[in-house]
Amino acid sequence: MSTTLPSGSSMKNNLRKTSIPAIEGEPFFQHLRSLKDEDRHPLNCQWEITCRCNFKCVMCYTDCFNTPGDIARELSTEEIFRIMDDMKEAGVLELTLTGGEPMSRPDFKAIYLRAVQNGFLTTVFTNGSYINEAWIQLWTDFPPHGIEISIHGATRETFDQVTAMSGSHERVMKAVQLVINAGLPLMVKTTGLSLNEHEVLTIKEQMKKIPGIHAKFNFNIRPQADGNEHPYQYQISDQRLEKIFESDEAFKKADQDLEAALEGCSSTCHEGKKQFHIDAYGQMQLCSRNRVNSYDLRRGNFREGFYKNLPVFFCPRKKPDGSCCSPA
Ligand code: SF4
Ligand code: SF4
Repeated sequence: MSTTLPSGSSMKNNLRKTSIPAIEGEPFFQHLRSLKDEDRHPLNCQWEITCRCNFKCVMCYTDCFNTPGDIARELSTEEIFRIMDDMKEAGVLELTLTGGEPMSRPDFKAIYLRAVQNGFLTTVFTNGSYINEAWIQLWTDFPPHGIEISIHGATRETFDQVTAMSGSHERVMKAVQLVINAGLPLMVKTTGLSLNEHEVLTIKEQMKKIPGIHAKFNFNIRPQADGNEHPYQYQISDQRLEKIFESDEAFKKADQDLEAALEGCSSTCHEGKKQFHIDAYGQMQLCSRNRVNSYDLRRGNFREGFYKNLPVFFCPRKKPDGSCCSPA
């Protein structure tokens, strides 16, 4: 299968001709609303299409696989297309393309367009550094459901220290402005770390000044995907975190909500029932935090993996009532 795409208006016309037929929204959403917790239907996929990245963020959980050997093992364009087509046939609704840095794949344009062509509500998690006018034009023609960009600091010094990449702050803030100017749906997100804890309030204030932007913050660090716990050295101390929460009601509330969710354990883990994760090598798993069991989509078939294998996958974090004790 060729990955070369036609350009300009002929590309648009081809994509529109081959896109899945439009359906009435309300009956479809009624169907979704009628699904019970125990019903099994693949609605939402988070797909880590690569672990390669041009940044080296100190708390990154995928950078351990950003090596030439591991990159060589990643899914090919054709394999991604085949799995995506199986997902379309199975009725997947939402697809998040993440990484690593998904836009660092040379075939990302083809992958993104295939996702849109398949009718998925497609969100891109990106560090923003590859976004330029050409990408803005493509996203204007074929809009994403969402774009999420990480903001690691309010100043160049802090931002570049977190990403370990000189000039990253300037590139990313330029990208944010391009996305906002184009009216594309943007969420910016910040992980509070010991390196940027003194700037989280300023980041929030800076983001407030940009009309049309949505911002979210979290203070949760996770181990690397290979189990190495090195990122925890950047966790903010409980004492400092308390001070941050005291100084801002919204941070405090977000933290209280998270505590309540974890304590209350009222929400069922939908991973494996409605949501699933695929890694860069085609392994389907319950979620990105739980890679204990995997189903190999390279060899198998999507429906078999989703309906026969995910239901018996184990999660060490799942509580007896079915809820998750991991922060989101
Ligand atoms: S931009 Fe994302 S994928 Fe890249 S190093 Fe940073 S956290 Fe990791
Ligand atoms: S219980 Fe939590 S960690 Fe386990 S699969 Fe569900 S969401 Fe993932």
